[in-house]
Amino acid sequence: MVLGIDIGGTFTKIGLVNRQGVCRGSKIIRTEAHQPFDTYKERLKTEIDLLLGSHLERQELVAIGVGAPNANAHTGDMERPPNFSWGDRVPLVTTFQEWYRVPVSLANDANAAALGERYYGSGKDLEHFVVLTLGTGLGSGIIVNGKLLIGAHGMAGELGHVNVVAGGRQCKCGLRGCLETYASVTGIKRTIFELLSVRTENSPLRDLSFNELNGEMIANMALEGDAIALEAFKRTAAILGAKMADTAAHLDPQAFILSGGLSKAGDILLTPVVESMEKNLFNAYRGKVKVLISKASRDQAVLGPAALAWMHFERASP
Ligand SMILES: [Zn+2]
Repeated sequence: MVLGIDIGGTFTKIGLVNRQGVCRGSKIIRTEAHQPFDTYKERLKTEIDLLLGSHLERQELVAIGVGAPNANAHTGDMERPPNFSWGDRVPLVTTFQEWYRVPVSLANDANAAALGERYYGSGKDLEHFVVLTLGTGLGSGIIVNGKLLIGAHGMAGELGHVNVVAGGRQCKCGLRGCLETYASVTGIKRTIFELLSVRTENSPLRDLSFNELNGEMIANMALEGDAIALEAFKRTAAILGAKMADTAAHLDPQAFILSGGLSKAGDILLTPVVESMEKNLFNAYRGKVKVLISKASRDQAVLGPAALAWMHFERASP
């Protein structure tokens, strides 16, 4: 068994996963990212020990894989994670290694998600693809020749922070006009509030505050035919599809796999994304790059980190 740990800003998911990707026991705890890391790690250890105690039985824990925001695969640290009060460097790999004395590998959360798709999801039969996680932000993981692209500094695949509008929306990263300020749950919310201010249609969206609104609500309203929600999806998809066409020119992938909150809208997102991507694609790629919606559910988030752990374990085994 390996232990997969997915650390998110709100929840941390842990799960024991076998080689076939079957989760034999899992647990979700609140991350409480505003509290110190030392408090968090003690709570986490208690939960992991309980999980190992009740599910490991005669099997052995052979490796741990961790997915986390701003994680550096080379250093084993989370580096300046936004929305976490855990300091500039969070030593995840050394912490888990000291506790459990097994190999620990770390990847950025979206990179881990890409490995999860490669091992157990829609990317099983693909050698070249890009996963885009459309959640609070936009994360991405790139698989080339069947392997995760890590990069010189352990930070490859930050498509959320490529520029789509010069001098555009302020991004949390400090830059302006980043893709994730448009194509993410937060991005589409910003688009909705812009649309509400310049259009006059009645919409239940008018009764909601920015913080009340979430991706699922927007998707449901679009499915019910709300004009503002539909227009917001159209604009989001136009920007995302155009950027995917750029990415296709860099990587020539077989497919893009969309996951995260916004992807739950299904065809309402997919159809205009494909249309915009095809329109912007260099003609050599037209009609060749698939766009898929991930089948992974939210509670399968540990499968990516688990795939990372198995990958390192297999590489280290003779
Ligand atoms: Zn940015």
